[in-house]
Amino acid sequence: GPDATAAPRPRRVGIMGGTFDPIHHGHLVAASEVADLFDLDEVVFVPTGQPWQKADREVSPAEHRYLMAVVATASNPRFWVSRVDIDRPGPTFTVDTVRDIAAIQPDAELFFITGADALQAILSWKDAEDLFAMCHFIGVTRPGYHLSGDHLPTESVTLLDVPAMAISSSAVRERVRSGRPVWYLVPDGVVQYIAKHDLYRG
Ligand code: ATP
Ligand code: MG
Repeated sequence: GPDATAAPRPRRVGIMGGTFDPIHHGHLVAASEVADLFDLDEVVFVPTGQPWQKADREVSPAEHRYLMAVVATASNPRFWVSRVDIDRPGPTFTVDTVRDIAAIQPDAELFFITGADALQAILSWKDAEDLFAMCHFIGVTRPGYHLSGDHLPTESVTLLDVPAMAISSSAVRERVRSGRPVWYLVPDGVVQYIAKHDLYRG
């Protein structure tokens, strides 16, 4: 039987940062797949505050992005949504996100989940070295982007093939703007939330 004297295994927590404007099935499949393959106990979705990479476009109010993430994840007992980035003033830096989640879950082993496009920018992130010390990175494939391990510290980053979901929030917003359907690209509750609050109509 199990060794009663063995130290309990630390909780394994995935962190999925994103603008989530809106959250879609590409995000959810990536999180679900990483949770399964890395035996994660939970995945926390963290909508960004004011996204510094996207200063060139209007981003929907944080409260809408947060609530859509809550709606999309509500039925999964291992998924939850954190307000740490939207409640912190100023632009979001991933190092702050990871520090705040680590403070809430001091003994957890952290895994930061990121798509191929975001991973390419990883080395330009503020305090990249600190980040690699605080959490393991999992870079997942994303249609249209090449996932390359070149120049990445292999001990801190794992590259992973996930089922290809050619969905982006930009494409969802553009579809809504032009009156085309977004059913099955985002969860049903998110389709309804977008309609209820008249988001992305321009
Ligand atoms: P936008 O088009 O507004 O940039 P997005 O679809 O890229 O939106 P983000 O909120 O920017 O969504 O992405 C959050 C994280 O999810 C990033 O790490 C991104 O690489 C990853 N991601 C987004 N879409 C997919 C997808 N279809 N497959 C795998 N990973 C994805
Ligand atoms: Mg993006």
